Amino acid sequence: MKLYNTLTGKKENLPAPGDKGLNMFVCGPTVYDYSHIGHARTYVFFDALVKFLRRRLGLKVNYLQNITDIDDRIINRAKESNKIPQEIAQEFTAAYRADMADLAIDGVSAYAAATDYLPEIISQVERLIKKGLAYAAKGSSTALGASSVYFDVRKFPDYGRLSRQKLSELKEGVRVETEPGKKYFADFALWKASKPDEPKWNSPWGEGRPGWHIEDTAITEKNFGPRYHVHGGGMDLIFPHHEAEIAQMESISGLKPLAKIWLHTGFLLVNGEKMSKSLRNFITIRDFLKEHAATTLRYMVLSNHYRAPFDYTEKTASMARSSVQRLADFTARLETVKDQASQFPLDDFTKSFWDNLADDFNTPQAWANMFDLVKEANKFMDNHSLSMVDAQKIIDFVKEVNDIFNILPQQEPAPAEIMALAAEREKARVAHDFAGADEIREQIKKLGWEIDDTPQGPRISKIKN
Ligand SMILES: [Zn+2]
Repeated sequence: MKLYNTLTGKKENLPAPGDKGLNMFVCGPTVYDYSHIGHARTYVFFDALVKFLRRRLGLKVNYLQNITDIDDRIINRAKESNKIPQEIAQEFTAAYRADMADLAIDGVSAYAAATDYLPEIISQVERLIKKGLAYAAKGSSTALGASSVYFDVRKFPDYGRLSRQKLSELKEGVRVETEPGKKYFADFALWKASKPDEPKWNSPWGEGRPGWHIEDTAITEKNFGPRYHVHGGGMDLIFPHHEAEIAQMESISGLKPLAKIWLHTGFLLVNGEKMSKSLRNFITIRDFLKEHAATTLRYMVLSNHYRAPFDYTEKTASMARSSVQRLADFTARLETVKDQASQFPLDDFTKSFWDNLADDFNTPQAWANMFDLVKEANKFMDNHSLSMVDAQKIIDFVKEVNDIFNILPQQEPAPAEIMALAAEREKARVAHDFAGADEIREQIKKLGWEIDDTPQGPRISKIKN
């Protein structure tokens, strides 16, 4: 399989896994608010990718994700809501895990919370100071005697390699924190001295808390060692976050690259604009799921190329919904096939489908192959020239695909009461008692279910708000 590596700007072969498997780390959320559909895009993509690696390529993948449970934004949110930061972190960690469960994202092998790695974080900062790549500096408003620690970026010549920028081209104040005590504006915090009302841990530099970037390298060094196979995240994390991770870990270990392949998902826009609180166009995962099925979100995200920008509109959601429905109707129709003879060229379609996924996970092309297959097989079925054996093979293929993408609606079986009403309605319909049939349909609707008449007979499904 080939994947586009941000570090080299080229498609490269997936690195060979080690004895313990392929190690993949993806940046998780900072738990101070509900996750939005931009986050969902990243996590749905990595979930499908890891399932492809495991189920299709048969690889053992150790998929690790961090949870940033200590951060300025958590502290600020706690102040706003009169809570303590730990409460905020717990509340939104639980919300994040619930959102992931609702999206059927279950490919992560382990989650690692930053606050569970304090000894490892402090050890990394100490090693960087010892090597002369980091320095302690007293800030203005910090606790008595406590210092912050900064990474000295001018001592790391590769700084800017991932984001393709020269140190001299960085501008002060642009996505770079400015703080007193820093030697150089682009130096980033490894350790922050805590203010009196902030969470704090003891350290050689007084009471403080970890910077954002250091948690990831502390977590990955402990779990994977100084180098590993794949590092992923949203494109917005390339600079400074991932750049900082590279500087930290490669300085400590003297080995490079930290990760062989760096994968980044593209931006998600809403009606052509960046999502932002000020534009009030923030769509949380839970709000999205009040209006749409999780399968709609998964298909919508996975039918777009993961690196391309994705413009979310209501129309993209409804198009995704109908594509999913088309595939569901298709598999339902395949179940009804009773014919014998056929020469359906299934392998042509499946080969292209899998080849496209192996080529930098080109899902738009792969789905085009899938819907070509749907069209062709429907033609065969129209002519009664698809055999039961071939129909079953196609069903198996769609199932294999769905085990990776998880986009087919989970058909919740209707309760007996609904089934009885549906049977009664069908009787009325067949007897041309359309008024009676409609009345029963309304009755069923009031109970939260709906009936669609399809060429394969009535389809009963739960109404999604
Ligand atoms: Zn991260």
